[in-house]
Amino acid sequence: MRHWEPYAPRTPRLRVHETSCCGEYDLASEGGQYFVLRWNGDHYEETSRGRYGHAVKVWLEVTATHHHQDMTA
Ligand SMILES: [Zn+2]
Repeated sequence: MRHWEPYAPRTPRLRVHETSCCGEYDLASEGGQYFVLRWNGDHYEETSRGRYGHAVKVWLEVTATHHHQDMTA
């Protein structure tokens, strides 16, 4: 189980590089640190903050395996 924590902006320079098909996940960076953002319906959560290569690996993983709540039928 991946660990997600509430996203708290550390600089005002958030950049979004990619967004998932449904807009639930974003690949973002802030001050040179990359991470994956997730919208949980109420607020943003982040995971895997760190180097680009690491964040991208996690990004590809979550976007390839995520499920849409409204497409579970
Ligand atoms: Zn999607």
